[in-house]
Parts: sequence; structure tokens; C-alpha cells
Amino acid sequence: MSSRRNVLKSLSALPLVGGLLGTGASTATAAEHAAAGVAGRNFFKELGLRTFINAAGTYTSMTGSLMHDEVLSAITYGATEYVNLDELQDKVGERIAELLDCEYATVSSGAFGAMTIGLAGIMCGMDEEKVAQLPDTTGLKDEVIIQKSHEVGYAHALINTGAKIVWVETARDLENAINEKTAMLWFLNSRTDDGEIKYDEFIALGKKHGIPTFIDCAADVPPVENLFKFTRMGFDLVAFSGGKGLRGPQSAGLPLGNRKYIEAARLHTPPRGTTIGRGMKVNKEEVLGMMVALELYLARDHDEEWKLWEDQINLISESALSVDGVETEIHVPPYANHVPSLRIRWDENKINMTAEDVRNKLRDGHPSIETVGNREEVRITTWMMDPGQERIVAKRIKEVLANA
Ligand SMILES: *Cc1c(COP(=O)(O)O)cnc(C)c1O
Repeated sequence: MSSRRNVLKSLSALPLVGGLLGTGASTATAAEHAAAGVAGRNFFKELGLRTFINAAGTYTSMTGSLMHDEVLSAITYGATEYVNLDELQDKVGERIAELLDCEYATVSSGAFGAMTIGLAGIMCGMDEEKVAQLPDTTGLKDEVIIQKSHEVGYAHALINTGAKIVWVETARDLENAINEKTAMLWFLNSRTDDGEIKYDEFIALGKKHGIPTFIDCAADVPPVENLFKFTRMGFDLVAFSGGKGLRGPQSAGLPLGNRKYIEAARLHTPPRGTTIGRGMKVNKEEVLGMMVALELYLARDHDEEWKLWEDQINLISESALSVDGVETEIHVPPYANHVPSLRIRWDENKINMTAEDVRNKLRDGHPSIETVGNREEVRITTWMMDPGQERIVAKRIKEVLANA
């Protein structure tokens, strides 16, 4: 494998190199692709990857959401010039704060990154020695109080700072847990109904004890009002994912709220290097993309979009119901992924397939369709589809169920 010929052969498997080396017929396709430029290339096909209709929702494993053309244009624009990264974040932070009527904002690396740098900002303030000290928390407030019912894996973003979580159940527990080490109180919006302590009381407890409150709203757009609601309510920091309902860059996020904490959070981010957040870089293209995605989202006709999703879900539901033995339920989760969602179940005596079989058949068909679900049901949303794909999904679901 070390002969020059083999090296050339493997190098020429890379389209550009193949083009440059001009190594003959076996690389003609890749070379042609390179000559044709990016526009002519089907990268996913070239890499042997399956693309699919996303009937599931905003899942990181499925690469989240698709960006609108205006967002892509902003990203391409951003790639054409140099600017100072801090100055860009300063200006975009002001713009986002104005759009969302809050004190300040920045663009972070996802909602997860927002949680890490937000807490780090609270722990270290503007003290650069403390910033460089993390994840060693010696001498710093390093406890975060969370309701047990709000436990999901994402709290790992908080312990990445070096902080510890203190789990509580009731307001009384929470007050008892507060001590001189308490840095922050964290709330998970999607678990609001499961927790004993609701928004107002949670915020009031923070204010009473002088401890900042943070709410994770990563998947809580739509509704659009949520972008304003929680900063107004009094949470010190609010975090949204940039690449879920907002359809910005999948790797971006939006921490909003108290200027003091967001400025301190930024001390943990690039270009500064001796920080826990150095790996959470957000490039200028993503910063612009996030800003434009937010502008577009705010300008959208949300009622019209909702009506479209309902119509799409109804179409798929009716198509599934045309198969004997099928039952459907249309459901809107009250928090997180608050969009019309379809649950499809069937009588396995009439349709001899498990939910997993059906999901696999949809995945393995042409075009491939990704759904979510559990043992009992297949779950579908349409908000991450391109318009028109709902008809393909409706047809395929009927086919798969009817041919069991
Ligand atoms: C998706 C999600 C996150 C992580 O958000 P990213 O933008 O992917 O970093 C955090 N918390 C909750 C509740 C989420 O749903």
C-alpha cells in the first residue's frame, strides 16, 4: 500500500486532488465534480449518505433543522470579509436585545453552550483570574439548585463549569439548600408542570436570596411569545436553541437577559483562550446566520404557519385512518416542540407490524422518511419538512400500513 501509485490513487479519491492530479478515467467523476464547482456536487451522495424527509422534529442526531435561504445568504456574506469577533458579537448582541426587548443577548454555541458560559459568567463575574481558574471552583460559589423533576441530561452543561448540582423538591427544600456556595437556580421550562415550584415562586426565591435564576427554553419556540415572556417575567438568563424552531445554525444558541451576566459569560468565549469555553467557538458566519434567522422568525406569519402544520397533520392522519384498524391522535405538547403532532397506533391483530417495523419500513423506503415513536406508536410532526413532503409521507404511511 506504500507505492506511489497507491498513494496517488487514494489521494485522487479526494475530488479536488483528483482534479489537480488529473489521474485518469477512474477519477473522472470526482475530477469533473471539482471542475464543475460546488454547485454541481451532491456531497451526501458522494459520501454515500442517506438523506431523508424529516417527519420527526428537531433532533440533533438528524442534524436539527434546515435554514432558510436568507440565513444561508447571511452565512455566505459573512464568509467574504474579516471583522473583529468581539465587535461583531457586541453589535449583534445589541440588535438581538432590541428585537427581543430584553437587556442583552449574545450568540452562543447552542443552548447547551449558553448554559455553560451563562453559569460560568455568574460564577466568575468580570474577574479574569477566576475565568482562567475554571473548572477549578476553589473559592467560588459553585452550587446550582435544580428541582429533581427537572432532571434531564442537559444539566451536564452546568457541571462542565466545575459546579455541582443540588437537587430539591419543594420550595422549603430549595430555601434550606441555599448557602454561601449557591451560584444559581436552574429551571427547565419543558418540565414546568412536573415541578412543585412554578415560575413566579422560583423567581421570587431567587430575588429574595439574591441568587440569579436561569431558565432553559431550548426547544420552546414556537410560540414566538416565549422569546419575550421569560425575560419579562424576571428570569436573569433565558436560553434558546438557535437551530431548533428558530431554524438558525444548528450549532448556535441564544442566551438572553441580564447584561451583567451575559457580558461576564462572554469572557469565557473565544477569542479569549484560557477559558473553559474556548472550544465553544461561534464563527462570524453563524453569528450573522443566527441574527437573520431570528429576524425572519419574528417577521413570519405564525398563525398561517400553524394552519399549514395543522393541515399537513390532518392530511397524514386521514391517509393513515383509511387503513382498517388504524387510530390516530393529534396532540400539541404544551411545552417544548409545541407544534401539531400526530400519534399513529393500530390494532396489531389487523395490521401485523410493530411500531418499530413501520418506522424501519419508512426509513428504508424511497424517499427515506424518519419518524420517532415508541413501542405503541409512530409519531410525526411536519414542521421540519419542506412543503409538499407531507403528501409523500401520507402516501407512504398508508402503503406501509396497508401492506402489512
Ligand atoms: C436541545 C436542548 C438543549 C441543547 O440545545 P442545543 O442548542 O442543541 O445546544 C438543552 N436543553 C433542552 C431542554 C433541549 O431540548
